[in-house]
Amino acid sequence: MSVRLGKISFFTIILFLIFIYNGNDWLRQLENNLPSKIVIDGKKSLTIQNAKRLPTEGKNYQTYSRFLSAIGRTHVHERVRDAIIKSYKILETTQPNIIYVYGETGWKNGGNFWPHKTHKNGLYVDFMVPVKKENNPATMWLWALNGWGYYVRFNENGVHDQYSISFEAIIEHLKALQETCKLFSLKIKIVIFDPALLRLLRKTDLHQKLNSIPFASQKAWFPHDSHYHVEFEIIK
Ligand SMILES: [Zn+2]
Repeated sequence: MSVRLGKISFFTIILFLIFIYNGNDWLRQLENNLPSKIVIDGKKSLTIQNAKRLPTEGKNYQTYSRFLSAIGRTHVHERVRDAIIKSYKILETTQPNIIYVYGETGWKNGGNFWPHKTHKNGLYVDFMVPVKKENNPATMWLWALNGWGYYVRFNENGVHDQYSISFEAIIEHLKALQETCKLFSLKIKIVIFDPALLRLLRKTDLHQKLNSIPFASQKAWFPHDSHYHVEFEIIK
């Protein structure tokens, strides 16, 4: 009996690990073709139906967590998905050495998305900051014990341990996103990033590229130093 239970546990663990690794890709194959639809009440967009999963990874990008993507925490409006994928394509040329990491987005059918106060309608995406280590592009280890990156704190110089934020890579990313939004009748409504780090970003040579992108001026309720939060808006 104990051997049998042992076998069940072993196979359960193996299946679970396989699901963690591949689940998001498998479930993407099974997604319906119904259009993403924002549910509006008055002027407020409350939730969404048929949001779509972001791909787990591409040539120059990846999810913050295969497990959290598999369980459904990285759904977005289909247009947002397409704009994001296309922006990464641009970045293959403009930032060829960077692996970008996206974070939490929302559920398939929207609604409350704990612990976030927003992220309810497929139009909100968190992006983890691209980093350098000893001046070379690097990828931070994101896992449960650092909240998949959300609990990593950068100081006012944009440094955490041996990692420093690549502001240039953020600028090129937001610029590429702004361009691809136009292709899918979207725009960037607002970006939330830590005010002290935003000041550093604005001191870089490339910052004029972001002149037409609106940034929140206030500090948010949760630190936005290891990630920047982008809210998209559908323009027609
Ligand atoms: Zn967010």
